[in-house]
Amino acid sequence: MIAAADFKITKVKQSKLKDLSVENLPFGKYFTDHMLEVDYINGAWQTASIKPYQPLLLDPSLSVLHYGQSIFEGIKAYNDIDGKHINIFRPYENFKRFNISAAKMMMPQVPEEIFIDGMRALIDLDRAWIPKQADHSLYIRPFMFNADQMIGVKPGEHFKFLILLSPTGPYYANPMRISVEEKYVRAAKGGLGFAKTAANYAASLYAASEAQKNGYDQVLWTDEIEHKYVQECGTMNVFFIIGNTAITPGLEDGTILAGVTRNSLLVLLKEMGFTVEERALSIDEIIAAHKAGQLREAFGAGTAATISLIKELKYQDYVMKFDVSTWKTAPELKSRLEQIHIGAEPDTHGWLNQI
Ligand SMILES: *Cc1c(COP(=O)(O)O)cnc(C)c1O
Repeated sequence: MIAAADFKITKVKQSKLKDLSVENLPFGKYFTDHMLEVDYINGAWQTASIKPYQPLLLDPSLSVLHYGQSIFEGIKAYNDIDGKHINIFRPYENFKRFNISAAKMMMPQVPEEIFIDGMRALIDLDRAWIPKQADHSLYIRPFMFNADQMIGVKPGEHFKFLILLSPTGPYYANPMRISVEEKYVRAAKGGLGFAKTAANYAASLYAASEAQKNGYDQVLWTDEIEHKYVQECGTMNVFFIIGNTAITPGLEDGTILAGVTRNSLLVLLKEMGFTVEERALSIDEIIAAHKAGQLREAFGAGTAATISLIKELKYQDYVMKFDVSTWKTAPELKSRLEQIHIGAEPDTHGWLNQI
């Protein structure tokens, strides 16, 4: 594979930044001046270009529009409190995961020179866009899709890889009301669950909409056979604190996305003195813990919101309600992660990639 040695850079004549306050922006709606775009043609990555953010011209037969061969990542960067550096949070984890998704989806591996070096060059160019206010960040969206112009089901020959940058305000994740899903399935063994692919999101919309009609925010996905073992909460990984043990579903079935936030929380929880377990966790065990007064906290984890508390969990007729204002663990995890992001707490794990 040929890696792009450097980038073809075309800068905007005038930045859009002066027309926009980058404070309190909604998630995923505004993008910076530039984007990275590179084509994979005839088995080789071409020279990547960093150029003004602009629409793509798409042939209507474009394969991804019909068959969905598409993957993505989500990463955040923050201004360091030293006023000099930008901290990208664990981008190599996303890089590795992107290529795991690519392999599963029959797409080419993206080299580090494009994914990491390209991301760094793009962020450096648009660094003025990173909000300075607390709780704000720059959301980074790398993605790749099949760009063949042909209606025929097969892995592509022409792929496009792009990176977009979006300044975002605080993601006020209100505590969630969650219903345990017993009818629909997000991911089954042997399926796409561990890949960060568009199809998983498309597959989740119907169940989420049904839950919302019944007054819930999201569903807690369960396994496809017994609807008994919990998987993920909406599009986030999920944690349950039972006694002094923090439990999150294990990755061995390939039905769960291996979240970078999930992995980071496992490390922090261990440091905070919890026993951490990655394993199969049934709804029966959760209910038994609740009845015994041992279910202390439950929350979702992912890059966009970091941590979202679960204030209500419904399984059939059994409703568990929590007074989240008394919780200690999830708020401490959220605050420790936030402090690490901005360099206010020492980066003892080597999680920050600085520019
Ligand atoms: C992206 C994602 C997550 C969270 O992963 P992070 O790396 O922590 O952002 C969890 N579940 C699903 C299905 C996801 O797509």
